[in-house]
Amino acid sequence: MRRLPGEQRRLAAAKARLDRLALYPRPVSLRGVRVLVWPSFFRVPGFRRYHGYALWRTIVVRSANASENLLTHELCHVWQAQHRRFAQLWAWLRYPYRANPFEREARAAVASTRSLS
Ligand SMILES: [Zn+2]
Repeated sequence: MRRLPGEQRRLAAAKARLDRLALYPRPVSLRGVRVLVWPSFFRVPGFRRYHGYALWRTIVVRSANASENLLTHELCHVWQAQHRRFAQLWAWLRYPYRANPFEREARAAVASTRSLS
């Protein structure tokens, strides 16, 4: 397990994308947010199909080559947790992955801020 290379720069790029959206009253804060590269985490049953995972202020990615889209998606989960932590945890228990409204929101956040170039 190690920190993502260029962590702060890459998080700032993801934040710049989310800052174009107004999903929550305050912009996402990067305070205390860290990104861990932890391939073996994704060998745990139940996590094998993911490339990234966010829990509160910690983002775990499978590879140091994590894309900006993946980091934007996971940072959106951090943003959700900063505003609706308990609703987010509850939704993970309540909905299948694809139907989870917080997953839908994170996917839409990536899609709507994708660069056109
Ligand atoms: Zn997600």
